[in-house]
Amino acid sequence: MRALCWHGKHDIRCDTVPDPTIEQPRDAIIRVTSCAICGSDLHLYNHFIPGMEDGDIMGHEFMGEVMEVGPENRRLKVGDRVVVPFTIICGECDQCRRGNFSVCERTNRNKATADKVFGHSTAGLFGYTHLTGGYAGGQAEYVRVPYADVAPVKVPEGLSDESVLFLGDILPTGWQAAAQCDIQPEDVVAVWGAGPVGLFCVLSAVLQGAARVIVIDRVPERLAMAEQLGAVPLNFEHVSVVEALNEQTQGKGPDKCIDAVGLEAHATASLDSVYDRVKQAVMAESDRPHVLREMIYCCRPAGVLSIPGVYGGLVDKIPMGAVMNKGLTIRTGQTHVNRWTDDLMERIQSGQIDPSFVITHRVSLEEGPGMYETFRDKQDGCVKVVMSM
Ligand code: NAD
Ligand code: ZN
Ligand code: ZN
Repeated sequence: MRALCWHGKHDIRCDTVPDPTIEQPRDAIIRVTSCAICGSDLHLYNHFIPGMEDGDIMGHEFMGEVMEVGPENRRLKVGDRVVVPFTIICGECDQCRRGNFSVCERTNRNKATADKVFGHSTAGLFGYTHLTGGYAGGQAEYVRVPYADVAPVKVPEGLSDESVLFLGDILPTGWQAAAQCDIQPEDVVAVWGAGPVGLFCVLSAVLQGAARVIVIDRVPERLAMAEQLGAVPLNFEHVSVVEALNEQTQGKGPDKCIDAVGLEAHATASLDSVYDRVKQAVMAESDRPHVLREMIYCCRPAGVLSIPGVYGGLVDKIPMGAVMNKGLTIRTGQTHVNRWTDDLMERIQSGQIDPSFVITHRVSLEEGPGMYETFRDKQDGCVKVVMSM
């Protein structure tokens, strides 16, 4: 089959690789009909997340048709159409029973390494680092889905791929980021990043009842999309984020702050960002936490920092004094996708949410490698790439 494979920094190729086969009795093989490139894939492309190996198949946002099921899989049948969450979950462990799916205790087959690096292992993830199991991803014609009797979301009749594909990652990610803010009717919510995840954070914060949502980015077409969803846009290349947020909130600061940027934050010549770039270049710091620092500084005392943006390792110069004295709550995590999918599927079916508005590029798998660059550099108005087969 054809698949997008990682061969090192900035080197993704469409290769011919062996077809996947059923390995465990609960597995299923899916023929992928649509898949997407996620901001998290860019961290692998730019090689900021450790634990990738030559030839790894990329991709964790995908959906398709069930081709084959293992003998113990009684939930799926051949021909079912499913969206596959990026988190691989067993459904039975203590964390799965609590709905903490992204920290499933059983699905990371490299658990021992993860235990060493993070203190405790987290769930297996598709198309991601070997620290999360090194499972082959879904930017491919076929994919093996382990524990396929638990997570895959069956697609009701009549819904297109584009309307449900993002249920596997970025839509619940935006929704969870907003839910973790525990939004109250008078709250001002500020969202850093108007990429696909930031846009779904904005949409979710609006639907979850925020009084006002402010969005920060520097890419005009992304800010325009966020504005369409009801957010007040701030371009960090044109204004001081700190001053503008204070102006917007009578000096109080936003009640809730969402980091939908993560470890590759850009900044306009701030002292801290120069420091981060130097430290990152000499590998003395793995992540660039400019947004994290800015959120801590801007957030209203007793507020919440919700962090869906991905961090990989070590960050430096975090103003812990401000976090502590302002009494800020930090909530973060890879998304517990299946915690949100039933509710979100109903909202899609009822027409309240149509997640396809983020798609700007529809291409074939063969065109995928070039699209990594287009998406990363926001060329050609690129917001979200979907590849279909
Ligand atoms: P993206 O790269 O398209 O979007 C990031 C946006 O942040 C860009 O528009 C960029 O211009 C903007 N940005 C950069 N520096 C900024 C700054 N200083 N202030 C404000 N905006 C800034 O990626 P995406 O697909 O939207 O993903 C965003 C983040 O969410 C990534 O870190 C990704 O890994 C993460 N993610 C997390 C989960 C999860 O489960 N927690 C799931 C999906 C994605
Ligand atoms: Zn993702
Ligand atoms: Zn589990």
